[in-house]
Amino acid sequence: MSKIGFIGLGNMGGPMVANLIGAGHEVRAFDISPEAVKRATDAGASAASGGADAAAGMEIVITMLPAGQHVRSVYLEDDKVMDIVENGTLLIDCSTIDVTTARDAIVEAEKRGLEMIDAPVSGGITGAAAGTLTFMCGGPEAAFARAEPVLNVMGKNVFHAGAAGAGQAVKACNNLMLAIQMVSVAEGFALGEKLGLDHQALFNIVSTATSQCWAMTSYCPVPGPVPASPANNDYKAGFTVAMMLKDLVLAREAAATVGASTPVASQVTDMYETFAAAGNTELDFSAIFKMIEAR
Ligand code: NAD
Repeated sequence: MSKIGFIGLGNMGGPMVANLIGAGHEVRAFDISPEAVKRATDAGASAASGGADAAAGMEIVITMLPAGQHVRSVYLEDDKVMDIVENGTLLIDCSTIDVTTARDAIVEAEKRGLEMIDAPVSGGITGAAAGTLTFMCGGPEAAFARAEPVLNVMGKNVFHAGAAGAGQAVKACNNLMLAIQMVSVAEGFALGEKLGLDHQALFNIVSTATSQCWAMTSYCPVPGPVPASPANNDYKAGFTVAMMLKDLVLAREAAATVGASTPVASQVTDMYETFAAAGNTELDFSAIFKMIEAR
């Protein structure tokens, strides 16, 4: 069992900590929110007074923070975690952040004799609670091999995608494809509705035809066909519009850094920006159907 420092105890980090403790790991936890720290100590973690205090003397440090600026702040700028941990400490950043920051962080870690991987997740808060997250990792093979047993406690699918930043690259590509697929399903069902088709009748056929995809069969954006989808619960998230928009912007930035053309994703990003600006940031991302239907 390992001594783990865990920084960022929000919707995802909180339940991930509970699973680490459940598996017998010793966790020292910090979040700038005292309520989040309290939830972690209730689950059996010890409370740290800051990011540096959470990381000091630990074998492994895990971060689950909102964005790249928070990751830089914790590891390099404010808490300076990379400067206070012992040589050989393993750093695992599970936050969804930009590829460039992820790569730079791993370079900085290696300069200091530390091992680090980027390990963003998919599976949402239900996957975090159930310990069934998918981890997509980037970084040196040896660091990944050390991280794998710990990630297996919090997830059920753990992949090594390649060198530093490869986990974030996979995450950006995945969510770009997901957003496009969601908008395509929503547009198809909105058109079907205007052509007089019943949602269920359309679903019964297209879910077995060539347009079949996860956004349709597991997360259908219209009420009815998939009982567990957020469309049947007033589009309560799930995965919010704000989060999807964050990931689309990360994908756009990643595309810009390599000069990749992503015209469909650009249009879908514009649609999510419009929908978010109309006050819908906290709805599930499948609610984009409502905007498309109303047009
Ligand atoms: P969240 O906002 O609930 O949690 C982030 C936590 O980080 C907050 O509790 C915040 O107080 C804390 N924090 C911010 N700056 C800090 C600092 N300097 N030191 C210590 N703590 C600090 O977000 P979340 O939903 O838990 O998501 C975390 C990451 O996981 C994000 O990058 C998100 O994109 C990604 N993600 C989320 C989901 C999801 O469904 N929620 C799914 C996949 C990936």
